[in-house]
Amino acid sequence: MRWGKAGMLALVVILMVSSTWGAPNSLTSKDFTAEELAKMPPEQLAKLVPPYILKRFTPEQLANFTPDELSHLLPTKFPEKEPFKIPEKITIRIKKIPSYDRITKMSEIELINLPIAVEADVYLSPDGRIRDIRIKKADYTILSTPTVVVYSPHPDDETFGSGGRMGYYKNLGYNVGVVLFTRGEMSSVYYDILEENGWSEEEFTREDFANARLREFLAAKSRLGYDWYVDVQKPDGQLWSYTVTTWVQSMEAMLNVVKHIAAQDDSWHPDHKATAIGLRDANVPYHKKMWYRVYYYNYYDYKYNLPSSIYSVKKDALDEYKYRDTNPDPKTGRFGIAYRSTPNIWQYFYNNPVEYFDYRYKNVKG
Ligand SMILES: [Zn+2]
Repeated sequence: MRWGKAGMLALVVILMVSSTWGAPNSLTSKDFTAEELAKMPPEQLAKLVPPYILKRFTPEQLANFTPDELSHLLPTKFPEKEPFKIPEKITIRIKKIPSYDRITKMSEIELINLPIAVEADVYLSPDGRIRDIRIKKADYTILSTPTVVVYSPHPDDETFGSGGRMGYYKNLGYNVGVVLFTRGEMSSVYYDILEENGWSEEEFTREDFANARLREFLAAKSRLGYDWYVDVQKPDGQLWSYTVTTWVQSMEAMLNVVKHIAAQDDSWHPDHKATAIGLRDANVPYHKKMWYRVYYYNYYDYKYNLPSSIYSVKKDALDEYKYRDTNPDPKTGRFGIAYRSTPNIWQYFYNNPVEYFDYRYKNVKG
């Protein structure tokens, strides 16, 4: 039998129609960016999310979340990550900043020239194992004192999930530090700031925005009073768990670490997953590992009730993440970015003197 032109055309039309019919049902929230989802009406958004999400949030609640909150609470579309390549060397720079009473205005802090307490080169083999650590500069108090290291995917996670617990360890006399993996520069708050100040992307670049987020982080740090931090500066959304594992193992090898505390896999943001898995895979003693929750507080292993003195300090730190300059300058200003990025999560920790921890890696997003 031979197909006539009309027959062929009819077949093509039938195939096209059936594929368009099939398409809408198969779409999920993963096919859209968080910004696209945030613009949808509640009923449309509810149709795209997994059923367990609707057990926790009503469609109206979902529609009230900011794009950044949706990116943590739902599976959403992220750009593909750059392929991972094991570096030959990573350079560790542990930085200190003055305590809050010596800071008159956060915006005056020079972001680049903060004092470096420890500087070291860590050399890796092609399989990712640490081959050699060469310490070039060292504050021996930091190298020798019992230390707790908190690993934060973005500026704010450390304070939200573990700010009180850091105070607990400070009170025990431990040295406490934070390894900050990204500066969170992909937040959609960037566009809000451009719009409300009438700035172009040249007047207020993504780099200015990243620096503004780091300024908030430093202000919160000076409130919490922990000792040092490392600004790893991986691109937001591009963190690999291998990178986290390397950092955990380097800290273990260099410092006198008693606890490594990383963000749990309780967010759909890929950097959070990478941080959680990175600690899971690190070759450090099991009893030293702990994970803090930022987004879901179910089936946790340990609930820390913050004493009032620690809670009030944590609230001061949270306020730094909300603080905005009245006359913001693109180069030096404060914009309250973390608060505007995830106001509901900020409010939860502001209202509740609790933090949730796990003693093992868990994938908990429901
Ligand atoms: Zn985060």
